Amino acid sequence: MPASLKKQRSHAYRNQEARCIYCNAATWDKDPSEFMARYGLTFERAKRFQCTAEHLRARCDGGGNDRSNIAAACLTCNQRRHRFIPAPNPERYAKIVRAAVEQRQWHRLWVFDVGILPQMRPT
Ligand SMILES: [Zn+2]
Repeated sequence: MPASLKKQRSHAYRNQEARCIYCNAATWDKDPSEFMARYGLTFERAKRFQCTAEHLRARCDGGGNDRSNIAAACLTCNQRRHRFIPAPNPERYAKIVRAAVEQRQWHRLWVFDVGILPQMRPT
């Protein structure tokens, strides 16, 4: 990953108070150890919540690595967005994710019991 993209990812991470832009889960940016200790997770579980650089406008659609195009998303949300064909835009995807989270049909069930996800905010 280019250094500039890492920088934008870290900026978005801080800006979003370490929360995934889609599912609102807590994420970690560089070192998982504190995150693993806080939520009592193995590395394998913590890995799903690693902060990734999400291109709001996809690279294949001409989206770049500039700050306005990069958001912080957990690994799960980042990977799944592109399994939809065509990939939904960020607003639509956020709605899909939040509805699924409310139904406990997004992350694995253990996720809902360890405090990674906040109480869902009213929309
Ligand atoms: Zn997420």
